[in-house]
Amino acid sequence: TAWGGDDRPIIIHHIVSSPDSHQAAEDCATPLPVLRHVADAMAADMRAGLEADGGSDLKMILSYVDALPTGNEKGLFYALDLGGTNFRVLRVQLGGKDERVVATEFEQVSIPQELMFGTSEELFDFIASGLAKFAQKEGGKFNLPQGRTRELGFTFSFPVKQTSIDSGILIKWTKGFAVSGTAGKDVVVCLNEAMKRQELNMRVSALVNDTVGTLAGARYWDDDVMVAVILGTGTNACYVERVDAIPKLHSPNSTSGRTIVNTEWGAFSSGLPLTEFDREMDAESINPGEQIFEKTISGMYLGEIVRRVLIRMAEDARLFGDCVPKSFKCHFLSGINCFCSKRQSIDNRTPDICAMQQDTSRDSEEVGSILYNLAGVNSNLSARKIVIGVCDAIARRGGQLAGAGIVGILQKMEEDSKGLIFGKRTVVAMDGGLYEHYPQYRRYLQDAVTELLGPEVSKNIVIEHSKDGSGIGAALLAATNSMYGH
Ligand code: BGC
Ligand code: MG
Repeated sequence: TAWGGDDRPIIIHHIVSSPDSHQAAEDCATPLPVLRHVADAMAADMRAGLEADGGSDLKMILSYVDALPTGNEKGLFYALDLGGTNFRVLRVQLGGKDERVVATEFEQVSIPQELMFGTSEELFDFIASGLAKFAQKEGGKFNLPQGRTRELGFTFSFPVKQTSIDSGILIKWTKGFAVSGTAGKDVVVCLNEAMKRQELNMRVSALVNDTVGTLAGARYWDDDVMVAVILGTGTNACYVERVDAIPKLHSPNSTSGRTIVNTEWGAFSSGLPLTEFDREMDAESINPGEQIFEKTISGMYLGEIVRRVLIRMAEDARLFGDCVPKSFKCHFLSGINCFCSKRQSIDNRTPDICAMQQDTSRDSEEVGSILYNLAGVNSNLSARKIVIGVCDAIARRGGQLAGAGIVGILQKMEEDSKGLIFGKRTVVAMDGGLYEHYPQYRRYLQDAVTELLGPEVSKNIVIEHSKDGSGIGAALLAATNSMYGH
């Protein structure tokens, strides 16, 4: 079958009588040729994006990070991470080659829902005030020399047109953010102004994407790290590129001859196996037509896709008997919530589909209780198995496509450097909640990479979790770009 000989997703064929849903199962299949096509298209789109701005779905943003951490960095540095439902602040005392990380401290603050839809000033004031409170608690092993300005690495996990290492203009919000007045502005200026209002003596030394922070953080410990990928609420990847392979960079002044490129692969869209459920979700999202790869593989959307399939199965094929759960009906992308009538937040149901897939008990009790809690439905065993099959089909497609994307990046790098990627140990640093917490997804990703690269090459490619590397990475890049030198 189109599902590659595995019988689980065929459940969708059996149970859903509507011809549309037959179509859906076929539409989202990811047999090897489809994955290979996606990998090739990723590599081609990368090239087109490096050629000229606007040349491709992939923006291939220059990070202005030309020097990666060496281990010699010293001093007290801060990092701020804004990118999803939380923001994190971190301070780290770096001790140089031998001592490395002397001490770290961090705090995490959840962003009130209304701030995601508010004004730019409100959001940045909230962040700067959290940062100011955190900075007051400095002491112990953290040591800021008299009279020094604190330096901050700002991890801002949205597409930014960087103009230098410490400035960049927000292109657009993603991941459900719709803050007014930030797009088109320099986000460092926004943060600096808010810090001034808090009378906080701190300056942004490096503005980085979370993928770039992750790459820098992982590179601090391992010289073979060449690519970093985030799979969380949203998704993205960056990698180390040779400046002479970037035609749109007219006056390269990188002394290392290399620079990190932020692909913004969430916007990729070529040749993806999409279903009518994906198309409907996209049409009803706050950014229709954008971030299609992200909407197919990342944490914010997987649960929503499953919800849409289950509604259809309840309506057309009586999945839960006479019950078509009302609460399945509401939307989370419009700000109410998916899958769930009780919680009025935009947090998504991916953790639930993940939890359902971990249930290996004979009568799938956990699945039954999750379905009951989310939608008030009573389900029999066969319905529960079907639900697990749907979760698996969507997680599988996501994981395999993410794997194909990684192979596309490696392929592009290998084509330009002949043997330097495939012929030796190369590390891909991974982070993000989806990757961290969804074992099946992780396995599908790894399996797709192994299968696409073949046994010989895949021995050299290490896909490795680099937990919370982006915070330290941003602080390290603040150190590398310190106004006091290093
Ligand atoms: C953003 C990227 C970010 C990724 C992961 C995407 O929505 O566009 O800049 O790296 O999410 O956080
Ligand atoms: Mg993040």
